[in-house]
Amino acid sequence: MDIRSGLVDSIGNTPLIRLKAASEATGCEILGKAEFLNPGQSVKDRAALYIIKDAVAKGTLKPGGTIVEGTAGNTGIGLALVGNALGFKSVIVIPDTQSQEKKDMLRLCGAELIEVPAVPYKDPNNYVKYSGRLADELAAKSPNGAIWANQFDNVANRQAHIETTGPEIWAQTDGKVDGFTCAVGTGGTLAGIAIALKERNKNVTIALSDPMGAALYHYYKHGELKAEGSSITEGIGQGRITANLEDAPIDDAFQIPDEEALPFVFDLLKHEGLCLGGSSGINVAGAVRLARQMGPGHTIVTILCDYGTRYQSKLFNPAFLKEKNLPAPDWL
Ligand code: PMP
Repeated sequence: MDIRSGLVDSIGNTPLIRLKAASEATGCEILGKAEFLNPGQSVKDRAALYIIKDAVAKGTLKPGGTIVEGTAGNTGIGLALVGNALGFKSVIVIPDTQSQEKKDMLRLCGAELIEVPAVPYKDPNNYVKYSGRLADELAAKSPNGAIWANQFDNVANRQAHIETTGPEIWAQTDGKVDGFTCAVGTGGTLAGIAIALKERNKNVTIALSDPMGAALYHYYKHGELKAEGSSITEGIGQGRITANLEDAPIDDAFQIPDEEALPFVFDLLKHEGLCLGGSSGINVAGAVRLARQMGPGHTIVTILCDYGTRYQSKLFNPAFLKEKNLPAPDWL
């Protein structure tokens, strides 16, 4: 018999998929870790599970307690699903700019959803800071208590990738992985996988793939946090060194405009049947840049972060793309 005991047991152990066109164009093996196949359809199920397990182990999250988090959506979906499976409530604070599909899914899960204006991190009403204050208030007044998941600075997030995603990639490639790249939201995925792979082989090249509007590309290239431009991608694009990113062994960085990333998303759907969100496009574009830099014959791994239907109203909406002067899929 091969039976998983519940949702929690069904997170992770995702397939590693060869991306045909990208591999053929570069002479490398370009492999995508299919995180969109997690039960919550994103890479963030792993962090949600580890954050909850850590809080339970520390005794801060008690039966019937509430999990509060500020999120672009995917972490909230993971927290709400794992919370439902383990008997916790969830209260999610989301910037109002995030896709309707993610907000609908959070409501469908039974999470309490609070939409706030999208303002920069330095503003006290930024969604992350708002969620931290709300957690304190709820902790003081809820009978079963409340915790703040704090995914950006809670290193239980990157621990999920140190203990699961990284070792899975190592095992799935028989240790033959030469390079890894992905974008950063909290940095949990990039830092955790970087630490896990470098522990096994210090010569694996780790590169950040940064969208426009994020400040990390300039930080890893020139030592200065500096942002320029903007991106329609969601869940990525960081302006500071989070606790999850601290001391991460990152060797190189690429800055990827949406114009370069979106054609990968459309082509992967039309020609390889992979329906992905925008951050996966940044990642695959980054993997192709890393492959070209390293030369043919290398094995490069990246993350296919979440499922594309989550962005039907934006990324796959020709009117929205036209308004932003971005390329659109030719069959829509
Ligand atoms: N892609 C998407 C769609 C996401 O929601 C996130 C998480 N915010 C990421 C990528 C980045 O993952 P991480 O937080 O581990 O950096």
